[in-house]
Amino acid sequence: MSAWPPDFVITLETAMTDATPLDRYSRQMRFPGMGKAGQEKLLASRVTLCGCGALGTVLANVLVRAGVGFIRVVDRDFVEPSNLQRQVLFDEADVANNMPKAEAAAVKMRQINSGVTVEPVVADIDRTNVEDLCRDADLILDGSDNFEVRYLINDVAVKHGKPWVYGGAVGSQGMTMTIVPGETPCLRCVFEGVPNPGDVGTCETAGVLAPTVNIVGSYQAAEALKLLSGNKAAINRELLIVDVWENTNRRVKVAPLMGRKGQCPCCAKRTFEWLDGAHGTQTTTLCGRNAVQVSHRTGGKLDFPQLAATLRASGAVSYNKFLLKFQLEEKGEPYEFTVFPDGRAIIKGTSETDKARTLYAKYVGH
Ligand SMILES: [Zn+2]
Repeated sequence: MSAWPPDFVITLETAMTDATPLDRYSRQMRFPGMGKAGQEKLLASRVTLCGCGALGTVLANVLVRAGVGFIRVVDRDFVEPSNLQRQVLFDEADVANNMPKAEAAAVKMRQINSGVTVEPVVADIDRTNVEDLCRDADLILDGSDNFEVRYLINDVAVKHGKPWVYGGAVGSQGMTMTIVPGETPCLRCVFEGVPNPGDVGTCETAGVLAPTVNIVGSYQAAEALKLLSGNKAAINRELLIVDVWENTNRRVKVAPLMGRKGQCPCCAKRTFEWLDGAHGTQTTTLCGRNAVQVSHRTGGKLDFPQLAATLRASGAVSYNKFLLKFQLEEKGEPYEFTVFPDGRAIIKGTSETDKARTLYAKYVGH
């Protein structure tokens, strides 16, 4: 009579027991540029991911599987049905549960790789918090959808001498550039200021194809792997512009723009105008969503049960520990509030900042 379990099961169990934590990265380590030394550097490295939407979820997915040891995921938003076409870490349950993107991403990332540390931060990146969020990182990654955040990242990166990788995607076109302070031009050397509203399309006006963000996010992730594994010589030093519909792939040489002849306010003159508050706003119209974000720091945490009790007289309220939703009608117009514990709110139903501020003051208070 043959023994049970059969031999092959025992062999398999033995193999599992003998496995080292590095085995899961064997295909990556076999790549000569990475090796065991590069993998160990990845595991010991820290990244701040600014924004976890389309580009951010692609980046988070690749980096957590690659074994980047610590990933801080910062995002101000929550998961909506129109995100699912391209934001690869989210699903319908995240929409149903009103999950903030940072928290939803962290759940998935821990399921993918329990051997790395993921720190979700539900917050709007602004000049008051960006240094704290990025100071301890070896690398900053841009997964954001707005220029204000990118110029803030650029200021922090140059000020503290940290590399960062810019990425953007709209429609079928995307671009990326790697910035290593002191070695490559910074964002302001290449793009002096924020484009005028209307000059560039947004994901709402021009749409966006999932392959565009997957390609740009993957290019950014490759740059991250090079920088974190100690392969700085291999990075892309040009501005890369891809179009998946027009079938074009352009590389713009940006090296001659380095410091813009000593006049770049950021990397040449070391004045950090975005960080110092010379630029930037506290009320933000969210690109094409007929929504406005009102940042109002309470200094403490909002008491959701109490707030819900007062709002129920005016409309429908629901909340979980991450956010409170409030729907109301005023003069026949529907509005939807999404309020976060720090007092920040996204108000849907208007793109006028004054109207949003008025609504906020009326219902949330302060
Ligand atoms: Zn510069």
